[in-house]
Amino acid sequence: MRTDAPALTTLFVSDLHLCAERADKLKLFEQFAEHARRRADEIYILGDLFEVWIGDDSGAPAHRRVVDAIAALSRSGVRVSITRGNRDFLLGQKFCNETGATLLDDFTTITLQGQQTLLTHGDVLCTADTKYQKFRRVVRNPVLQAVFLASPLSWRSRIAQHTQSGTQASMAVKAPEIMDVEQETVVAAMHRYGCSQLIHGHTHRPDTHEFEHQGEVWRRIVLGDWYEQDEVLVCRDAEPRSLRIDEFLSSA
Ligand code: MN
Repeated sequence: MRTDAPALTTLFVSDLHLCAERADKLKLFEQFAEHARRRADEIYILGDLFEVWIGDDSGAPAHRRVVDAIAALSRSGVRVSITRGNRDFLLGQKFCNETGATLLDDFTTITLQGQQTLLTHGDVLCTADTKYQKFRRVVRNPVLQAVFLASPLSWRSRIAQHTQSGTQASMAVKAPEIMDVEQETVVAAMHRYGCSQLIHGHTHRPDTHEFEHQGEVWRRIVLGDWYEQDEVLVCRDAEPRSLRIDEFLSSA
């Protein structure tokens, strides 16, 4: 059936890891948000928007700038949805109220250009990393989170620093394949949610993987991070297009 509704423009980004130490990326995000206000209908941020998030009450100036940029996007009518990443899994209701953004479940399905599409940050798919999955179950425990969030900011910030250096040390000794998704976990999740397309980040290995499943071609799109690739995935009417942010900023 023909429809006269204009095509929606949907943008996907992930793994921006925004923080005060990377001032250039903060600026880039503000430019991205400003440009997206006039170019996009909806934006999905698929996790690790922030390098670290110790609670919606952090009040850090760098965080404030990001919150303001997203709030401006929402006010201009762009729908912003955010998945929690493994760095910013404590994003909560106050953040949503301030930004107008919607927090998504760990797995969310959308219809993207008519195709059932599964969205997730990506860490839950890395099931070969059993140590991380155990750690994740602990830090995602709602009771522990409530206790953590009720403690003083200075204490939370010390804990976060400690956890971060521990993560970096353990990543240095893990085999690269452990830190990637497991194909059977991918297929099982796509199957469970009835999706032939999956979009995620987290692994910092941007690519499009196509594979056959029961006679169909299924697709897994991995978004790039904002360390090296500065990527945005632009979906309009045709195939999704991966652009660098500077290309996006100069696009009409
Ligand atoms: Mn991540």
